[in-house]
Amino acid sequence: MASEDFTAERSATGSAETAQRVMAASDFVVAPGYGVGGVVGTGLSATESLATELSAADVHWMRRAILTAMEADGRASPNPTVGAVIVKDGVLLSAGATEPFGGRHAERCAIEKVTDRAVLRGATLYTTLEPCAHWGKQPPCADLVADCGFARCVVGIRDPNPAVAGVGFARVRAAGTEVVCGVLRNETLAWHLPYLVPRLLARPMISTFALDTPGTNGSRLLFGHSDRWESASAGRDYRARLKHRCDLLVTEPSASSVDTAAFARGAWHGLVWWDMAGRLADMTVTEARELAAQARDLGAPLALVAVPGPDNAAQLDAVVGGGITHVIPQSGLDPAGWLASSIRDGELAAVTGGMPNWVLVDDHPRLAAALAAMDTVDVVHVLETRGGSGEVGNLCARPAETIGDAVRIARIEAADATIGEYYTQGLSSALRGTSW
Ligand SMILES: [Zn+2]
Repeated sequence: MASEDFTAERSATGSAETAQRVMAASDFVVAPGYGVGGVVGTGLSATESLATELSAADVHWMRRAILTAMEADGRASPNPTVGAVIVKDGVLLSAGATEPFGGRHAERCAIEKVTDRAVLRGATLYTTLEPCAHWGKQPPCADLVADCGFARCVVGIRDPNPAVAGVGFARVRAAGTEVVCGVLRNETLAWHLPYLVPRLLARPMISTFALDTPGTNGSRLLFGHSDRWESASAGRDYRARLKHRCDLLVTEPSASSVDTAAFARGAWHGLVWWDMAGRLADMTVTEARELAAQARDLGAPLALVAVPGPDNAAQLDAVVGGGITHVIPQSGLDPAGWLASSIRDGELAAVTGGMPNWVLVDDHPRLAAALAAMDTVDVVHVLETRGGSGEVGNLCARPAETIGDAVRIARIEAADATIGEYYTQGLSSALRGTSW
């Protein structure tokens, strides 16, 4: 972690609340190792030394707050998985992350770990997101934070939820606690992206995997393939994290997609098989029944989206007979077009029982490329070629594999793989207009 660029640190120095600036494209880049997929490898946590300068200490402890969130199970969705730490005189008093949905929020977890509440007077609370100000399944964190007598409350980003935005800060500040917002802003933003995108675009975040491969006109993306990800331990780890963290996994029909190892602790609402190529040909009722039962055990209802026709009537009978829900795309749309439109107009919620925050398209090259061609993909997770330029941009050779002027936000260097996270131009532009 030698060359981190803490852009957000400067914006936080010496002011009560910053984050009002408009971001330039270059502002998006996050420190190596951070991203929506969390941290891969062991390069982050152990080797940091605590700097004595105040702002450097803020960066140090905010990093601990993000790592605390990343280490949590990630089952808080649709709530954000927030991380919080409490520090006094340079000593960590406690740390907490948002519990699985319905449970306590990060600030409360950290505060309730300290048995003598008087110790909190004069301490600093670091939290990745503005403390909530409204009643949900839990009481407002801002009221609890205000009651603790903290000297400072240091925050990564403002919560865009209208019930919170600025209200949480005001409540904490009214208690005499200094509020600083914007420390490791880009890193906290990247981590909370699945929570933020639905509030920004009024639809779920859609992400998919790709390989960066040398082409005749520069790099080109191969969407959706997962085989090479599995051959590197860091790639395998990263992919498993995303599958664990997303709300809805969309993939080709296969027995291996119902993967108990990857999903046993996951939070997702469901698994959707997207049949665009008649991959169900060999499925029997018995197999379908077993897979449906496995998926139910994981808490993930399994659905199949396929256009019925004379060629697949027997397979669809097997699927339905096995207890898997068959969803027929709206007439006139192919399955990829239906996914794009159902995400936009909310029809997807009828399939999954609720609108997911994050749809991950995994191991489905045709669907991923079709969605990218429709400008429906927001984030692309790219396994980068070693020694290549690492710049994907609009250099892709075939239109179906173009993601426009994608901006690389994060780069994760692990022992056996380099992983880039790219925001597509649409998401980058939308984020540039925010003041979070
Ligand atoms: Zn809260």
